[in-house]
Amino acid sequence: MSPARGPLPGTEPSFSFEFFPPKTDTGERVLWDTVRRVEALAPAFVSVTYGAGGSSRERTVDVTRRIAAETTLRPVAHLTAVGHSVAELRHIIGRYADAGIRDVLALRGDPPGDPNGPWVPHPEGFTHAVELIELLRELGEFTVGVAAFPELHPRSPDWESDIRHFVAKCRAGADYAITQMFFHVEDYLRLRDRVAAAGCDTPVIPEIMPATDVRQIRRFAELSHAAFPEDLAHRLEAARDRPADGHRIGVEYATAMAERLLSEGAPGLHYITLNRSTAALDIHRNVTTARSLRAR
Ligand code: FAD
Repeated sequence: MSPARGPLPGTEPSFSFEFFPPKTDTGERVLWDTVRRVEALAPAFVSVTYGAGGSSRERTVDVTRRIAAETTLRPVAHLTAVGHSVAELRHIIGRYADAGIRDVLALRGDPPGDPNGPWVPHPEGFTHAVELIELLRELGEFTVGVAAFPELHPRSPDWESDIRHFVAKCRAGADYAITQMFFHVEDYLRLRDRVAAAGCDTPVIPEIMPATDVRQIRRFAELSHAAFPEDLAHRLEAARDRPADGHRIGVEYATAMAERLLSEGAPGLHYITLNRSTAALDIHRNVTTARSLRAR
């Protein structure tokens, strides 16, 4: 498979979904129910996140391989450099290749335990994602995605260095990028313009996080350093004992964001599912219905 055949947007915006490896049998059933629903929509790809350590990492490999073997979906394996020697990374990538998986989202990762703590590389490992991209390029014809940060990576001292390192990842062989979650469209547009101004045309796919439960979203937003809109927080707070209303509010907000992103030329949408299909699929349905009505 040529890297040029990556999950890159063509004339139509792509849409894709993110899963995480479940910990329990119930979680496994919920995930596979969602995988089957998503499969019926024929997305460009689905991605599976990589845990901070321990058994969740093996579950990422298992889930990704099972998606490749048992569905028509194109799985993208997230992979981080955290706690791995280069030899271990080679081994994991080899297992993916053996399973016919040629799509990897190459990430540095955060320190386990405290994600804001000091970054300590494995003594025989990598310090930055760019090295993992170079390894993937050396090992074969992988389609490689990377991370991008609409609100500046929390460890970047300024935009100049952030964009310089992002462009270095693209020059090292990244085919596309997916953003960190964000809640203000302008943050994405500014990032996209900065990347373009640096002479880089790598597609940057915005990640869409359905914000339907204020407690959960505040926690995610804190972890990802995403600024959560106060007006949306107030509306979700008022609906905290009425999940159906929270769902409607979150889906409406994300639908409006997604439509604006596409109208501004975003190359696709990557939906976080949290392994549950309802909110992400509702947003996707709203977006595709509105687009097909406009196309008539
Ligand atoms: P890098 O590109 O290495 O950047 C990290 C910091 O170092 C930035 O400030 C950058 O500007 C700087 N930098 C980069 N290169 C250099 C250089 N050569 N010299 C000096 N400074 C440099 N984490 C997980 O653990 N599992 C996941 O599955 C996962 N999935 C993710 C999916 C998406 C779409 C995104 C956006 C993030 C994901 N993350 C995941 C989180 C990610 O691992 C962290 O945000 C991490 O802090 C940054 O990873 P990176 O690949 O951008 O790192």
